[in-house]
Amino acid sequence: MPELPEVETTRRGIAPLVEGVRIEEIIVRNPNLRWPVELPAEVAGQTIERISRRAKYLIFELQHGSLIVHLGMSGNLRVVAAGAAYRKHDHVAWRLASGSELRLHDPRRFGSVHWHAGEPLSHWLLADLGVEPLGNEFNGAYLRAQAGKRRAPVKNFIMDARVVVGVGNIYANEALFLAGIRPSVRVNRLSRAAWERLAQAVREVLLEAIRLGGTTLRDFVKQDGNPGYFQQSLNVYGRQGEPCRRCATLLTGCRIGQRATTYCRSCQQN
Ligand SMILES: [Zn+2]
Repeated sequence: MPELPEVETTRRGIAPLVEGVRIEEIIVRNPNLRWPVELPAEVAGQTIERISRRAKYLIFELQHGSLIVHLGMSGNLRVVAAGAAYRKHDHVAWRLASGSELRLHDPRRFGSVHWHAGEPLSHWLLADLGVEPLGNEFNGAYLRAQAGKRRAPVKNFIMDARVVVGVGNIYANEALFLAGIRPSVRVNRLSRAAWERLAQAVREVLLEAIRLGGTTLRDFVKQDGNPGYFQQSLNVYGRQGEPCRRCATLLTGCRIGQRATTYCRSCQQN
């Protein structure tokens, strides 16, 4: 599933190819995505001024509104030459004045494309999201305030999109390892210092994934967009029973909130 780093990598990959370029036509080949794709005729003829990102949504900022795109479970965006043969599951195509086409490919069809005439962040999909993990509001003090007297396991808390967006299961496991925090610890038990370490670790893990994504940018633009580059640098996720890279203790696997969880019982003590 495309996570925040893959979405950000996609944004960086396609932005230079589509920003400042006019949309000549949008071709909806299959409107049956997660929500029916219904786009007004006025989208054609508008220039894509900027592509921004909020959580895992890409926002195509046009002159008179925005297209809000989600890649769902299996989606990717590619820029191809106009007229290139469609692949199965190419559901939406943007024919651009540059002579290229942007295509949304999504075998499982959990992705979406919405038109929104108003301020993009006021759209119902975006309005109630928590802070951005790479933004200025995200830090230890913010997390501590959000946690308050709650008693949720810290791993569930950090994956809650109303608290902070974009921290998927892999990144939560990895960040908790870096921060030395056991995934099951209740949030009301964490110290101020632990919250600071965790905020820093979340940021580090996501930035590293984006950085590694950057090395395969071409894949997002021209080929399949399957990530996998981040896998080699995982410390704990998917490694239960294998030795900790830091202390060689065998890593412990369990489930927290129904999600696969792996940690080092020696390195992650609080
Ligand atoms: Zn360890």
